[in-house]
Amino acid sequence: PRRVVIVGGVAGGMSAATRLRRLDEHAVITVLERSGYVSYASCGLPYYVGSVIEDEEDLLLQTPARLHARFRLDVRVGTEVVGIDRERHYVRVRSMDHESAQVTTIEYDKLILSPGASAIGLDIPGYERMRLLRTVEDAGRLVGDLSKTPRSAVVVGAGFVGLETAENLARHGLAVTVVEAAPQVLPALDPELAILVEDELLAHGVAVITGTSVAEVHEWGVILDDGRAVEGELVVASVGVRPDVRLARIAGLTLGAHDGIAVDEANRTSDPDIYAVGDAVEKFDAIGDTMSLIALANVANRQGRRVADHICGRASRHVPSLGTAIVQVFSVVAATTGWNERRLVAAGRRYRVVRTHPMDHASYYPGAESMSIKVLFDPDNGMILGAQAVGGSGVDKRIDILATAMSGRLPVEELANLELAYSPPFSSAKDPVNMLGYLAENMRFAGCDLAEPNEIAELLAHGWTLLDVRTEEEHRQGSIPGSVCAPVDELRERLDRIGTGPFLVYCAVGLRGHIATTLLKGLGYRARNVSGGHRTYMAAQ
Ligand code: FAD
Repeated sequence: PRRVVIVGGVAGGMSAATRLRRLDEHAVITVLERSGYVSYASCGLPYYVGSVIEDEEDLLLQTPARLHARFRLDVRVGTEVVGIDRERHYVRVRSMDHESAQVTTIEYDKLILSPGASAIGLDIPGYERMRLLRTVEDAGRLVGDLSKTPRSAVVVGAGFVGLETAENLARHGLAVTVVEAAPQVLPALDPELAILVEDELLAHGVAVITGTSVAEVHEWGVILDDGRAVEGELVVASVGVRPDVRLARIAGLTLGAHDGIAVDEANRTSDPDIYAVGDAVEKFDAIGDTMSLIALANVANRQGRRVADHICGRASRHVPSLGTAIVQVFSVVAATTGWNERRLVAAGRRYRVVRTHPMDHASYYPGAESMSIKVLFDPDNGMILGAQAVGGSGVDKRIDILATAMSGRLPVEELANLELAYSPPFSSAKDPVNMLGYLAENMRFAGCDLAEPNEIAELLAHGWTLLDVRTEEEHRQGSIPGSVCAPVDELRERLDRIGTGPFLVYCAVGLRGHIATTLLKGLGYRARNVSGGHRTYMAAQ
């Protein structure tokens, strides 16, 4: 029988192990896991800290005994792989219980590495005082800290896990401050969407400090780069992860440009008998002709399954990664897939933007919540390059539809033709995703040109007239400087008073602006609609 040894018994490793067993009843499968647990729900850890998940047992999806009973897996926890002899095909293992214990060996025909990622450390005084949230053990330590009823906490890093951690600490009544070195929270999102998440944090009493790093950690809190002191009896570091390549490095496996394990399309490393999956490896990027680091559970699980297929001789299609991710921050949901605008700009890629600020379901049905969606696409071929959404319910569905469209390589205007489920509690007869398709279709094929909020100043300087086509009342409550109010329903009557253009038109979210723009163009004027209207303009300020 083939002998397969797997290093790391959580997302990627365990998916590979169980799939292997389903494909090969005779294989000898050994899973070696350094921590005390296998198959645990890392993604649930923040919610365990927040007591949303009350019982630690609920985080443990499997135990070695159950995995043996069902899959005949030889799962050894508390067991670290400390070396690989590639010539002789064995791994060297050491029990974590007895540091001095002898190193033993286990032979393999195929080896799968799924060692995950490790937290990026900070080279600052007092770093050792900071808590991490990577493992069940880390979560247990934080829960222990909380039992001493601290009053305040600082979370360093406002990425997905950092914000989940902040929310869950706030649930315990702590005064929480989030510190982020980037100029915004959730750097994976573009700033005009991230600001909506920041607003939600502030509304729930979480203080947010961006554009500053932590310089020192003390038992009372932290000192920032700019000298400010921030109180936090508990300080949690969540500044990101890097691939755990310690073992791969010792074994002389090739690393990629981003210091992740380099793999081919079948997830083979530079040694054809050693595969690697999950957070530790560099991923083929679905948007650029490049490799990326994407540390997400779905990707790790998919890769684990595919590697098992490959070992068992089953052909499977190589699927590059989009990096589809979602987070809930209090009542707001933020999600992203593909590249954001910042990354497209940095890569010098041509792109256009469509946005919409729809309700998640028919506005006449109770409970409708608004959301903001932004889609970036290639103007030459219509390929969707990225999408982001922030709102309440229904954000998850829209980002998943968009990610599916991207996987299927649907051009952006085809979103208009998707036949999506509708009844009033769930959507609108024109789903927000259809609306994005209409916008893109108009843009690509009907000459409807949108202007981004950051283009307004330049267009005004070139003599464009900025028209606010909302009502007088809306205009009074706040408008873009330099705009003239000309409500869409009165536009035809006011033509003699607004000049001859060219016109830059905006409304609240873009819909009335679109109607006004088509009207003006129909009359022979040059006109462009401000993408996402006043709402996007304000968020971008
Ligand atoms: P892991 O699941 O991290 O497993 C690697 C395992 O290998 C570890 O248990 C480690 O102990 C073990 N190991 C490493 N080296 C050795 C060795 N030498 N010998 C033996 N064992 C070793 N992703 C999402 O998509 N959505 C989320 O909501 C989400 N939330 C998260 C929240 C938190 C708090 C954390 C920490 C992660 C979250 N993630 C989330 C990321 C997700 O958990 C990872 O992408 C995924 O677990 C990666 O799978 P993996 O198999 O590559 O590594």
